[in-house]
Amino acid sequence: MFHKSRDVKLEPSQQFLKHSVVYPANMVDTRLLSRCGIYCGACIIYRAERDSSALLEDVSRQLKVPKKEIKCNGCSSPYAEQWRNCQNCGLKACQDRMGFGTCVQCPEYDVCPDYAYLAGFTAHRGEDIRGVLARVEAGESMGILDALEKRWRCPDCGEPLMWYDNNCRSCGARVKEEPIEIDGFKPENSKPLAS
Ligand code: SF4
Ligand code: SF4
Ligand SMILES: [Zn+2]
Repeated sequence: MFHKSRDVKLEPSQQFLKHSVVYPANMVDTRLLSRCGIYCGACIIYRAERDSSALLEDVSRQLKVPKKEIKCNGCSSPYAEQWRNCQNCGLKACQDRMGFGTCVQCPEYDVCPDYAYLAGFTAHRGEDIRGVLARVEAGESMGILDALEKRWRCPDCGEPLMWYDNNCRSCGARVKEEPIEIDGFKPENSKPLAS
């Protein structure tokens, strides 16, 4: 059960959350909710830094990035704690230029080609980022974060999943209806399973 609290300190990059009811910071990690609706807790960079040396090796090799540079505390952490590509995110730069916390606050939201591309790309791996931002805009940031934290766990063993996992990396359970193939990164354990 959540308990309301008003004393959680938000980082500057989390100010888009401030209109939501604020819950104790240990219930959900607010750094993992991005300003575009992506859930950072299932990101390959975030998981590679935390889950296993084998995954870190895999991501480092496939992305051609040294292991020590593969680190991030989430899109709503301070910029200095973010993966370098996300420090340079074009959407965040655009939001900042226009003075919006998230894209859903922007008058161009329904027609923005950059956002449409991102929404299509992330839908392919099982995310509904427009749905997430609708919940954020409705003041339900902590509720959607809690739901995302559960959604991106293996239904069999409860371990965290990545966007691109076709199978749980812990117990091997199949976690996608249809296997996904993504250009640029494919976890070694996520080759299509025989049914
Ligand atoms: S690398 Fe980007 S998408 Fe991944 S956790 Fe960091 S901010 Fe989120
Ligand atoms: S919807 Fe498009 S134009 Fe509007 S803030 Fe987001 S990226 Fe920028
Ligand atoms: Zn599992």
